[in-house]
Amino acid sequence: MWSFETDPEFQRELDWISAFIREHVEPLDHILPSQWNIEHEGFKRRVRPLQAQVKERGLWACHLGPHLGGKGYGQLKLALMNEQLGRSRFGPIVFGTQAPDTGNSEILAHYGTDEQKEKWLKPLLNNEIVSCYAMTEPQGGADPLMIETRAEQDGDGWVINGEKWFSSNAKFAAFYIIMVKTEPDANDPYRRQSMFIVDAKTPGIEFIREYGYHGQAEKEHAHVRWNNVRVPAEGLLGGRGDGFAVAQTRLGGGRLHHAMRALAEATKCLDMTCERVVSRQTKGDVLWKQQMVQERIADAWIQLRQFRLMVLETAWLADQGHDWKALRQNVSAVKVVMTKVLHDVSSMAIHLHGALGLTTEAPFTDHLMNSFMIGLADGPTEVHKSVVARQLLKDYTPNPEMFPDYLRWKVLEKAGANAGPEAAG
Ligand SMILES: Cc1cc2nc3c(=O)[nH]c(=O)nc-3n(C[C@H](O)[C@H](O)[C@H](O)COP(=O)(O)OP(=O)(O)OC[C@H]3O[C@@H](n4cnc5c(N)ncnc54)[C@H](O)[C@@H]3O)c2cc1C
Repeated sequence: MWSFETDPEFQRELDWISAFIREHVEPLDHILPSQWNIEHEGFKRRVRPLQAQVKERGLWACHLGPHLGGKGYGQLKLALMNEQLGRSRFGPIVFGTQAPDTGNSEILAHYGTDEQKEKWLKPLLNNEIVSCYAMTEPQGGADPLMIETRAEQDGDGWVINGEKWFSSNAKFAAFYIIMVKTEPDANDPYRRQSMFIVDAKTPGIEFIREYGYHGQAEKEHAHVRWNNVRVPAEGLLGGRGDGFAVAQTRLGGGRLHHAMRALAEATKCLDMTCERVVSRQTKGDVLWKQQMVQERIADAWIQLRQFRLMVLETAWLADQGHDWKALRQNVSAVKVVMTKVLHDVSSMAIHLHGALGLTTEAPFTDHLMNSFMIGLADGPTEVHKSVVARQLLKDYTPNPEMFPDYLRWKVLEKAGANAGPEAAG
């Protein structure tokens, strides 16, 4: 069975989401600071009522399984939803699906004790609190084997020392999920890290600096020093040495949702550019009549449609029962392409808008910066390309012959037809 149709009942929900995002959520992008700044008066006044409407409609935190209060939507539906949510940086938080809280809640739901779930998971799912995921360190970003922050056992608890940076939303977070080294002597380097949950109010967590990138509403990526931070034994999430396995729990569907949100950003850029090129005049005619303009518009649309199909196919495969491990190649490919699509389409939008496109009055440079951001965060492009190639090549066996079997003379030889008139024809 293979179909590109959306069932009419779900299409009605998508239409509602689309109108709701455009009318009520997108304007927030220009008004409010960080979307994780949930104690800000503006957030309470403007975002909370929208979240209430989403809950009432039954569309809150749809990524969750029914046991956690979600709809249990499959990946395809979630992808289509995220295509709408991605139009606004507030889309995810208004619908209860913002990173890193989504991934952190997956970890907690999977590995948390009943007590941890009660204390952290419940309020997190309700967006009464937000959380931080602290993995990256100044000396080792893309390679988590370089993590040096240590947790050492002390009495019946642990003491954490080290530095993390690009800990997004640390200043708003009620708790951290942090990856640290607990088993430095383990033979398998992938068994040296463990994951902990840490109350953000624990003494010893020191902010050194905060980073923002161009286009962000406020600085929200923290460089944090962990000075003798004491964590009770119950703070361990999963077993000792399980850090990498726990980290993998959070990456599955999230990347597809990011991809559809990147698609939404790029689609917005194309929409605005189409409006501009049918409006703007040059050389006595509208801009779109120039063939080189047509080429750029056509290329952008084609790129978007190809990418959309790729993400939806991966989501569909996930719904058919392929687990995330089996889909590694597909998911990594999606991660690679989303960066390029957003980069190319936002760059086109800047260029075809002329001087106006470059200004801070237009949104395109923000989208362009986002394209660089998504090419680094959650695994850089090069690493994902390498995954695609390795996965692809593992199904091929080396040919011991000097000349490959697919050469014409060898094919003919095998067919017993070499040099005959039949072959020449
Ligand atoms: C906006 C933003 C938010 C983030 N939020 C978080 C967060 O909440 N929690 C968290 O833990 N981390 C977070 N990160 C960190 C992110 O995971 C790292 O930026 C990422 O892992 C890359 O590490 P790095 O920046 O140190 O780059 P480096 O590892 O220093 O990489 C430098 C360059 O080398 C390339 N490169 C790296 N590895 C390879 C390779 N194997 N082959 C070829 N080229 C390679 C990279 O693409 C890059 O171009 C965030 C990053 C950004 C930009």
